[in-house]
Amino acid sequence: MQKRILVLGGDGFCGWPTTLHLSARGHELHIVDNFVRRRQDEELGVQSLTPIRPLSERIEAWRDVSGHDLGLSTLDIARDYAELKNLIGQWRPDAIVHFAEQRSAPYSMKSSWHKRFTVDNNLNATHNVLCAIVENGLEEYTHLVHLGTMGVYGYKTSRFKLPEGYQRVRILSHENQEEGEETEILYPPDPGSIYHMTKTQDQLFFYYYNKNDGLRITDLHQGIVWGTETAETLYDERLINRFDYDGDFGTVLNRFILQAAVGHPLTVHGTGGQTRAFIHIRDTVQCIRLAIEHPPATGERVRVFNQTTETHRVRDLARLIHELTGAEMQFVDNPRNEQVENELQVENQGLQNLGLQPITLSAGLLAEVSEVAGKYQHRCQSSKIPARSRWRTQN
Ligand code: NAD
Repeated sequence: MQKRILVLGGDGFCGWPTTLHLSARGHELHIVDNFVRRRQDEELGVQSLTPIRPLSERIEAWRDVSGHDLGLSTLDIARDYAELKNLIGQWRPDAIVHFAEQRSAPYSMKSSWHKRFTVDNNLNATHNVLCAIVENGLEEYTHLVHLGTMGVYGYKTSRFKLPEGYQRVRILSHENQEEGEETEILYPPDPGSIYHMTKTQDQLFFYYYNKNDGLRITDLHQGIVWGTETAETLYDERLINRFDYDGDFGTVLNRFILQAAVGHPLTVHGTGGQTRAFIHIRDTVQCIRLAIEHPPATGERVRVFNQTTETHRVRDLARLIHELTGAEMQFVDNPRNEQVENELQVENQGLQNLGLQPITLSAGLLAEVSEVAGKYQHRCQSSKIPARSRWRTQN
């Protein structure tokens, strides 16, 4: 069934290919973005490795190759509440996909300005969307799909798999520790940066609006996204997706691939013993489509899926790229304040039950990303690769 879908943050790394994927499936799409991400590139003196086109040109190119129109509203969802409310009220979306947050942990830790910007932007953005749905009386109509992060759980070693959002616990009586009752609570949050903290707070907004107003919400706890292109962005070079490699926005695997392409050592933070959850951008777009096409029922609690397909230790990824390309590994100080080594096991059956067939890391896929990195390596500014943001002034 064709749906009307509003994509908040539809010009970004995940938002753009998701918009194209949903449009290619025959859904009606409208993008909202304020282009803050493009301005952050200017602030940091860096650009996407790939030559991304202005959004108006991207939209035109998509119309040329697919025949589908994409709507566009340029507004700041954290500040322009009245416009957002009117857009939602007039457009009456079946689903809203919410990507529009500041998404870099290092960027959020650069200074008190960046911490405050991340909190203001992310919390107001999320809360404004929730308020606007309620104020338009669309609580039971519009399904909100939010991109959260695996980082909300914290990266602590556990003998158990991380559940999908909720943890069964036994609350013991204060008077008699023999007595207790079983219940399910949101898995205790443990943010590792200001960015991650905003995502843990988003979870409470969702819990409250679901409980109080009956909103239908899916919160996708996404792993680190790697890859660049999807089937749809490959239709035409004007549709190319962004590729971030700088010390603030570059995610680890894409950064290693770029480093290998330009002959820069693979910079491994600390011992590289951090285990992280990953997903390819092609699976990201599938997961979001599956979540939209299978909305939660009215009255259902906030649905949480761990949107991740595999876990890897960072130094193992570096070793893999080293073996494939010969690039040197270089161990550097870890700018973050985190456990030196951790194990990670994740429950991720929810999206697979809806039909996801995960793409996992393979030499073939890595080669594809390396080709993108190789093709555009002349655009790389090597001085921008190292991570300079520090979690504490004295690390
Ligand atoms: P991105 O920065 O590339 O895209 C975000 C988009 O939202 C940008 O186009 C930006 O201009 C827009 N935006 C931000 N604040 C806005 C506002 N107030 N009003 C209007 N537009 C605004 O980020 P991404 O990598 O596409 O990530 C999308 C979402 O997925 C984020 O919420 C992020 O936390 C989550 N996520 C991403 C990753 C990853 O590896 N990229 C991993 C886990 C979770």
